[in-house]
Amino acid sequence: MRLRSIAAFLCTAALPAAAQTPAPQTTQPPQKVFGYRDYTTQAKWEAAFLTVPDAKRAGEHLKVLTAAPHWASSPEDKATADYVAAQFRAAGLAAEVVPYRVLLNKPVSISIEAFDATGKKILSGPTPEHIDSGPFGSDTFQDDPRILPAFNGASPSGDVTAEVVYANYGTAADFLQLAQLGISVKGKIVLVRYGANFRGTKVYLAQRNGAAGVLIYSDPADDGYALGDIYPRGPYHPATAVQRGSVQFLPIYPGDAETPDTASTLTLPDTQRLTHPDPTNLPTIPANPISYADATPILQALNGPRVPHDWQGALPFSYHFGGTPAVTVHMRLQQDFQRRTIWDVIATIPGSDTAQKDNLVIAGNHRDAWVYGAVDPSSGTAAMLEAVHGIGVLLKQGWRPKRTIILASWDAEEEGLVGSTEWVEQNQARLAHAVAYFNVDVGVSGPDFIASAVPSLKEFLRDVTRSVPSAKDPASTVYSIWQQTQSEPPEGNVFGTARRRAAHPLTDATIGTLGSGSDYTPFLQHAGVPSTDFSSDGPYGVYHSAFDDYTWYIKFADPTFAYLQQQARVFGLEVLRMADTDVLPYDYRTYGREVVGYVEAAQRKATALNLHLDFDPTLAAATHFASAGDAIYTKQSAISGNITALNAALRAAEQDMLTSEGLPHHPWYKHVIFAPGEFTGYAAVVIPGVNEAIDDTSGAAPDLPRAQAQLNILANALNRAAAELEAVK
Ligand SMILES: [Zn+2]
Repeated sequence: MRLRSIAAFLCTAALPAAAQTPAPQTTQPPQKVFGYRDYTTQAKWEAAFLTVPDAKRAGEHLKVLTAAPHWASSPEDKATADYVAAQFRAAGLAAEVVPYRVLLNKPVSISIEAFDATGKKILSGPTPEHIDSGPFGSDTFQDDPRILPAFNGASPSGDVTAEVVYANYGTAADFLQLAQLGISVKGKIVLVRYGANFRGTKVYLAQRNGAAGVLIYSDPADDGYALGDIYPRGPYHPATAVQRGSVQFLPIYPGDAETPDTASTLTLPDTQRLTHPDPTNLPTIPANPISYADATPILQALNGPRVPHDWQGALPFSYHFGGTPAVTVHMRLQQDFQRRTIWDVIATIPGSDTAQKDNLVIAGNHRDAWVYGAVDPSSGTAAMLEAVHGIGVLLKQGWRPKRTIILASWDAEEEGLVGSTEWVEQNQARLAHAVAYFNVDVGVSGPDFIASAVPSLKEFLRDVTRSVPSAKDPASTVYSIWQQTQSEPPEGNVFGTARRRAAHPLTDATIGTLGSGSDYTPFLQHAGVPSTDFSSDGPYGVYHSAFDDYTWYIKFADPTFAYLQQQARVFGLEVLRMADTDVLPYDYRTYGREVVGYVEAAQRKATALNLHLDFDPTLAAATHFASAGDAIYTKQSAISGNITALNAALRAAEQDMLTSEGLPHHPWYKHVIFAPGEFTGYAAVVIPGVNEAIDDTSGAAPDLPRAQAQLNILANALNRAAAELEAVK
């Protein structure tokens, strides 16, 4: 999956300077790095590492990984698992293929028909994804019979005939607006466009509002011709492209629907699995994605009042709300739900330091794709394999990490973060000692570096990018190009929301907040492992369609694979630097300041809504945490005293942010600072227990007792973390 945004601004689609950007020449390696007593030896290993990741080899990995559609659990998916395992082993790593048995739906047949008021058929879909060859070329991958019909993961089978209501993006505010206008979606098929929120949340809200089914289409306003030329002339989605994707209720819990909190190993007895359709993260109404080619006759036939300006898409006619007999849709979905085998690939490099070897540095990327997945996720996998190549070369030269490194290739991420979630649930006890999880999903869709991270790792990630040459300008670093050209950070990288170029260069490269939509979610939000996520972003209109393939990639994302090489260097350097640091380079000063800001913002909101809540103890706790963060930073900089105890406390403070009871309405999520919003999905809700009780996004009134209880839970967690940091002598 991956949260992503369309960079609609003047895209800096500069071609990379050279396929083989050398390791930094003009940028001297830093003399001092936070967390290292003496950086000299590490600097040599890092310099040796940076020379290894190879653009051409990365391009070859990409070609192999994208040779066939490799939907999770398919034989082609297994072939990619074996390829990744072989690459890990070739680098000298011990690698194993770890299977899980999980509930996945596979489409048997999908039929979407529409009729006008006279009963005349106006759509017989779905139209196959296809572009004709012309002056701008064609697509050699598009007609492969192994491509599954476009479908939504987690959608039940269904046979529904109903009138249609257009609900814009299907956000909580959109459904509220329909209700206020007296337009009921009860018993109707809701037609929504992609963008603004997670697609599973569109279905969650439609179901809560009584809809009978959901069709989700890609409007050209959001990632099509309104933004630029369409494929194959340009990178945006052509008329027949369909965005597949899971409609699992991810904000309730991710992973295998039948085994929340439990790993769905091959030997887990069926009696310990929830039986379909009981799992609460599966929708009960059918949903399917369609192209705008297929949405057009439906939208055009809708009548009723015209929609407001901000509901109008880019198709060349006025949109109407519908909900009348002017058009009827018949959607018939036959889904084959089975417990299917998926395969994570896990490689381990044992740590060499007796005091540190139980502390894990984990880095991962998913491998399964809706179709070919050249950008999502194979660009990430190709970059990871070249990072592993570099780590393997260091191992052969005698380098040994202090901490244990685990490299992971997750399966079934697209279905709802399944492979990573099951692995986290299986390894929960060990993960209390994991010092970081570094995620890559989409490695490269264009030239613009973007990142999200837990606040304590933001400066660490910036530091890493200061040591890596930019693919855009090899004389410069990833950091400086990123800092100079960044756009405003997306709030949770909401798909389909254009990002604005910053009016003035921001003083520092901005790193976003981790919401959900990729494999860091179980690590951070369930197990409390500090996490980062990064990508190289660009105009990418073929997300989750059959056209996200090798042909598109070499034409629009990264023709020379220089960005794969760059991302391999960033990914590998994160791992090396975290594995060997003397003192964990967490920045609790920034964490403290951000949390104080979150609490103050919630208080302002509560005041504006005239809610009587006592914020004082929570504000005091946030300030307490912030000052403990300042004090521990001084100790980290000194690198003296009991380093083992210092590291243990630094790690435990993040663990203190977990609450055993979990969040109201989604107790699988344990983190009191970050969670995917119940009504937003991709976008993070910060201090979610408090904010979700205050917000009336679903139309419900604020829940004051719940908000006060959550304020107290938050205060306890912050005081716990502060005390942990203060206890270090
Ligand atoms: Zn992905």
